[in-house]
Amino acid sequence: MEKKILNALKERISRQNWESWFLDFSVKKIENKHVVFEVGNIFIKDRLEQKFGKIISKVVRDFLGKDSSFEITYKEIKNDNLGSTKTDGPLIKKKPLLITPLNPKYTFQNLIVGEFNRFAYNVFLEASKNPGYYNPIFLYSGVGLGKTHLAQALGNYILETDPDMKVAYLTSEEFMNEMIISIKKGTTEEFREKYRKKADILIIDDIQFLIGKKAAQIELFHTFNAIHEAGKQIIICSDRTPQELKDFHSRMISRFQMGLIVKISKPSKYDLIRIGKKILELKETEISEEILEYLVQIYDTPRVLHGAILKLIAYKNLFGEMSLSIAQTLISNYKKETKSFEEQLITELAKMFDCSSEEILSSKRTKNISFARKIGMYFANKYLNLSTREIGKIFNKSHSSVVQNLKQIENSLKDGNLIIKNYLRELDKRIKRFAEGK
Ligand code: ADP
Ligand code: MG
Repeated sequence: MEKKILNALKERISRQNWESWFLDFSVKKIENKHVVFEVGNIFIKDRLEQKFGKIISKVVRDFLGKDSSFEITYKEIKNDNLGSTKTDGPLIKKKPLLITPLNPKYTFQNLIVGEFNRFAYNVFLEASKNPGYYNPIFLYSGVGLGKTHLAQALGNYILETDPDMKVAYLTSEEFMNEMIISIKKGTTEEFREKYRKKADILIIDDIQFLIGKKAAQIELFHTFNAIHEAGKQIIICSDRTPQELKDFHSRMISRFQMGLIVKISKPSKYDLIRIGKKILELKETEISEEILEYLVQIYDTPRVLHGAILKLIAYKNLFGEMSLSIAQTLISNYKKETKSFEEQLITELAKMFDCSSEEILSSKRTKNISFARKIGMYFANKYLNLSTREIGKIFNKSHSSVVQNLKQIENSLKDGNLIIKNYLRELDKRIKRFAEGK
C-alpha cells in the first residue's frame, strides 16, 4: 500500500517538483485510514502541505476512502549533532564566506548623530570596537530611520580595522532563500556551517520578514544559538520590538531580549536638515538651506528625504538650475506622480528602442536591448547623477557590469559616436518634458 500511494503521487507531480520536494518523502505508517508521511525537515513539511496538500489528500482518499486523512511529520534536527562528524581542524579557508557586499557609503562618518539615534550610535560604535560585548544587539525603529545604515557602518568599520574578521550581513529574506536553495541542492550542512561556524559577526536585517515563516525561524534560531554560544556578535534589525514579532516562538523572542535592545526615534527637523546636508555632501552638490527647510516640513524620515533630494538633484542636473519655487512644483508633482525619474527613464528607453520595460530590466542580451540598457545607464549616471550602485539596483545588474557598460559608452563618445550622442540628446529631451509635467 505504501508503495502504491507513493507511485500514484509520483504520477501526478511533475518530475521537477518531485525531485525538488519528494526525494526523502516516505510513508511512516498507515493506521485506521490515517497516513503518516515523513520528511527530512520542517521546511519541506510546510512546503508540501502548502503546495501539494490537495494532491496528497486526493491520492490518500483514492486509496483509503473518503473518510481517510493524512499528516506529514519531520525528523527533528538536533542542534548538537550538526557538523559534529567534521573535525574543527586547522582553520584553512575552504571557501571564502559569502558576504552580501556592504554599501561603502554606510559608515559612521556619514551618519548624522542626534538625540534620536545617539544611544544606538554609541552602542554600535562600542560594539565595533568590542564585538560580542553587548550580545545580541536588537535594533529597531520605523522604516527609513537608519537601521541598515547603522548596522552596515559597524560591518564596514570592522572590515576596515580587522580584515580577517568575517562579517556576514544579510536580510532575513536572503537567509531564508539561501536556506531553501541549500535544501534543494542537498547542501544544508554547508549552509549551516557557513553561518554557524564561519561567521564572526552575523547581522540579520529586516527580521520581521520571517513572520509566518516558521521553518526559517527555526533555522535562524539554531544559527543564533550556535553563534551566541561561541561568543560571537549577533545583530538583529527589525521594524518592530521583539514582543511585536507576532508568531515568533517565545524562546526566540526571549533570545532577542537577552542582550541589548536599542531604538532609533524620529529625527527632529533640525537633525533632518543636517541629514539632508550630508546627503548633498555625498552627492557633491548643493541645494539651498531654504529648500531643505521646505523639504523637512514634508518629509519626516531620512529615507523619504533622501528620495526627494535625489529628485531635486536629478532636475538640477538636467536643467542646470534649482530654486524654491521649482522645488515646490517638483515636490507637488512628485507626490501626485506615480512614476519616478528612473521609472520614466526605463519607459522612454523602451519606447525609443521598441521593446518593453521588462525586457530592459531582464537579463536578455540581444543587441538592441543591451544597447538600450547601456544608454540608459549612462544617462542615469551623467544626467541624473545616480551612483553606479544605484544604477545597478535600477537595472538589476551587478556593480561591475554597470561600471563596464559606462566605460564602453564613454569610450564610444570619445571616439565621436554620433548615434549615441543623439540617443542621449533625445532622452534628455524626453525626461525634461516629463520633469516639467508635460
Ligand atoms: P532603515 O534600514 O531603518 O529603513 P536606512 O538605513 O535604509 O533605514 O536609511 C534610509 C536612508 O537614510 C539611507 O540612505 C541612509 O543612508 C539615510 N540615513 C538614515 N539615517 C541617517 C543618519 N542619521 N544620517 C545620515 N543619513 C541617514
Ligand atoms: Mg533597512
